[in-house]
Amino acid sequence: MSQKRILIVGAGVGGLSAACYAAMNGYRTTLLEMHSRPGGVCTSWTRGDYVFDGCIHNLAGTSPDSRLYGLWRELGVVPRLAMRGYDELVAVERPDGPPLVLHTDLDRLEAHLKALSPVDAPVVDELMAGARWFRGFDLLGLAMASPAERIAALARGAPMFRKWGALTLERFAERFSDPFLRRAFPTVVYDWPGQTMLMALYFMGRASVGDLGWPEGGAQAFSQAIADRVVSLGGEICYGTRAQTVLVEHDRAVGVRLADGVELFADAVICNGYGPDVIFGLLGGRFTSRAVRDYYAHPEDRVEMGVHVCLGVRRDISAEPHAIVLPLEGPVVIDGEPRERLYVECFGFDQTLAPAGAAPLKVVLPTSWERWDRLSRHPVAYKAAQAEIAEAVIGQLERRFPGLRDQIEVVDVATPVTTQRFTGNGRGFRPDPAVLVKALFAGRRLSQTLPGLSDFYMVGQWAGPPSLPMVAAMGRDVIRQVCRRDGRPFAADPGEASG
Ligand SMILES: Cc1cc2nc3c(=O)[nH]c(=O)nc-3n(C[C@H](O)[C@H](O)[C@H](O)COP(=O)(O)OP(=O)(O)OC[C@H]3O[C@@H](n4cnc5c(N)ncnc54)[C@H](O)[C@@H]3O)c2cc1C
Repeated sequence: MSQKRILIVGAGVGGLSAACYAAMNGYRTTLLEMHSRPGGVCTSWTRGDYVFDGCIHNLAGTSPDSRLYGLWRELGVVPRLAMRGYDELVAVERPDGPPLVLHTDLDRLEAHLKALSPVDAPVVDELMAGARWFRGFDLLGLAMASPAERIAALARGAPMFRKWGALTLERFAERFSDPFLRRAFPTVVYDWPGQTMLMALYFMGRASVGDLGWPEGGAQAFSQAIADRVVSLGGEICYGTRAQTVLVEHDRAVGVRLADGVELFADAVICNGYGPDVIFGLLGGRFTSRAVRDYYAHPEDRVEMGVHVCLGVRRDISAEPHAIVLPLEGPVVIDGEPRERLYVECFGFDQTLAPAGAAPLKVVLPTSWERWDRLSRHPVAYKAAQAEIAEAVIGQLERRFPGLRDQIEVVDVATPVTTQRFTGNGRGFRPDPAVLVKALFAGRRLSQTLPGLSDFYMVGQWAGPPSLPMVAAMGRDVIRQVCRRDGRPFAADPGEASG
């Protein structure tokens, strides 16, 4: 019997994961990637002596006791990369008093919050009870669970989901009487508006057991580890290769036509990448439902972490919190919008990213895709906008880090247009908690398969919930589904045991 072939378009983490499991299960596996390296948005870039991470803040599955750690081992991330936790998730600062530090040690956090506002002790108790409950509830690990385990987890978690699921950080913060806590608490999850309390409690609980952290070397090291695993399992990765059309015969995906006209044929095609491009570009909009059209035809203009102002600084920032919400003195217009705070990331904790005594420092800003798309048609204006943002950000950082301006060796500003050029991902998407809940508890994704088209699958953040573990688990599930279709048992090579 000849070996069946699977073609995978896109070496984002979802595509890389699918390629690993396809190869593990004996498929002839070819991964086509338009860029010159793997990872998609899970990437870093080097400028001078500095490596700037474009992605990872918190990786779930860093504890050897978690289910997701097993996923990272199967994918060759561990033991190759050391995993580390953080002492704090974020520090929310203020000009006139001590910061709110979200310590990962929950006893320390409780004492800290009660010291910041003794009268708010009952609210703190409620918060801490929720965070402590999540210590023992590996929510994202459910992506690796059996249907029976998911049902049991749903039964166990239902009261918590009812209590916290629809509550935003903003609404919860209204319970504090201390004005600073009311202001600061809504910003603790990346300073994104409208986050659900479930996410905050999950972060707090799992970080406290070392299950949320950082892989040494960051995003590119992470993606490269999985790409190397694909190759070591016998899979092939073709870089600089753009797929243009999915070839369909009798409502079956049979291969891919590349941008240079070459046609490749396969028994199944898996697409990873920017959802609207896959649905309306590669497939020409032929296989949709109303739900699929509604979701993919109107991606969001808002890109939450759209602009990355990256600075290489010859300064020891290893003692700084790795994430800081920094208040500005009154609203300051940056990137065309009045801003009251900056989200600052200090990478002094990972010595592999810069020479000794230096570190990358980054500010991420939410932005508008339309604005950058427009600017990109006028290269001079685009460059000027980048320079203006860098200057404004440096001016604000100088107040927090006196002398910083003179220590800056590299400045690099990435925009949503940069991300689109290198990964195909342009606009933002609606982070819909329902998509996560359906995936975790019912194993259902938005568009893992499409109506009317067989032998075709989608993986990645446009087909299911975002985040590295969710897209990697989806790659695994898609191959499980292909194996089931082909009547063969699914196998996962456990990878190297940790030393
Ligand atoms: C700024 C930022 C911070 C994040 N922080 C975290 C975090 O802290 N923790 C976490 O878990 N998750 C985080 N995420 C989310 C996580 O990184 C993403 O959900 C995940 O990496 C998306 O992977 P994907 O499989 O969807 O592929 P993508 O990253 O979208 O990659 C798709 C790939 O397909 C390729 N491609 C597209 N079209 C074609 C074509 N026609 N032909 C060939 N190749 C093609 C692209 O070049 C790209 O390499 C973050 C994301 C961003 C953007």
